[in-house]
Amino acid sequence: GATLGVLGGGQLGRMFVHSAQSLGYFTAVLDADPDSPAGRVSHHHVRTAYDDAAGLAELAGLCAAVTTEFENVPAPSLATLATRLPVSPAARAVGIAQDRAAEKAHFVACGVPCAPYAVIETAEQLAAVDARLLPGILKTSRMGYDGKGQARVADAAALAAAWERLGRVPCVLEQMLPLAAECSVVLARGRDGAFVHFPVQRNLHREGILAVTEVHAGNIDAALAAEAVRSAHAIADGLDYVGVLCVEFFVLADGRLVVNEIAPRPHNSGHYTIDACDSSQFDLQVRTLCGLPLVQPRQHSAAVMLNLLGDLWFDVAGTQRTPAWAEVLALPGAHLHLYGKRDAKPGRKMGHLTFTAADARGARDAALAACALLGIEAF
Ligand code: ATP
Ligand code: MG
Ligand code: MG
Repeated sequence: GATLGVLGGGQLGRMFVHSAQSLGYFTAVLDADPDSPAGRVSHHHVRTAYDDAAGLAELAGLCAAVTTEFENVPAPSLATLATRLPVSPAARAVGIAQDRAAEKAHFVACGVPCAPYAVIETAEQLAAVDARLLPGILKTSRMGYDGKGQARVADAAALAAAWERLGRVPCVLEQMLPLAAECSVVLARGRDGAFVHFPVQRNLHREGILAVTEVHAGNIDAALAAEAVRSAHAIADGLDYVGVLCVEFFVLADGRLVVNEIAPRPHNSGHYTIDACDSSQFDLQVRTLCGLPLVQPRQHSAAVMLNLLGDLWFDVAGTQRTPAWAEVLALPGAHLHLYGKRDAKPGRKMGHLTFTAADARGARDAALAACALLGIEAF
């Protein structure tokens, strides 16, 4: 009957709440939105900002342990909570993941290759940028997600204009790399250093937002997949990380593997684990938070996950509609997850759809049929 807390009331918090409740825990969500997806399904809902002292004290009073689902929860709030109860992941690890400059320095320290980059915090650093980093992508160091806070820049003039447009905030400039593919590893690490991971996921992004995740044998070269797991393990160990962590990678045209970024929480590319693995990334988040045993998860079905963005809730004329769920659910192996968000907006993550099958072909065929029914571009 203990209560587990989560900072953030979005879909990740909602799926954490589902897992926690099925293991018999009560839940408490902290999110200022009175109608948040996780708050609506939780036993307790503290409706304050993430840095509100009274809200944090109320959460600490309710809970036996606290985790986070929102990447940009102020690290000091985690540190405050940690003076009263177990918090994972820790403020330090989350703080590093929240800052692209610190994150990249950590990759370098762990000996894991990342894109060539420069930190741009001053006009002097901007002027001194190595021309070999161009064309590149300028990313704000903090608060970016789903490709927001980024600009693709071809030359020094475009770089200067983009930094201006982003408000001259601290940024990182990365060299634009020729990508052959993208993949990610979701892992869980316990307080004792125990390490388990899900299979390497292959991800397709559209306009900076994850669109499709495929996980099945032969999806990623075995040697590359093993390297991705080793690198993810090193990154987690280096942070003394406790909890669920996602590490995103690029596979370059020349076959090299390069780390992109980390997310200190379950990840959109790991949603397929709910339906295709014997324990999900949210189950492992609960286990790491409570110090329960970590067992290497096993994928029992090939899986393809489609993100359901708000765009699907509008027809070509811009009129709101309900997507054709009944037809989608007639396809074999369909698992529909809707997050209970009331207003659909283009680009907003409203839900996801996972297809499981005995083999890759079956999962892909059903997912492609769903794409045709829903008006999602084929992959
Ligand atoms: P997320 O929602 O995953 O946190 P984000 O806003 O933090 O996204 P990134 O992961 O940094 O953004 O970049 C988004 C996408 O842009 C990547 O998945 C990749 O497709 C592309 N991209 C980012 N950096 C590079 C790069 N250096 N070279 C080529 N493509 C890149
Ligand atoms: Mg990111
Ligand atoms: Mg990313």
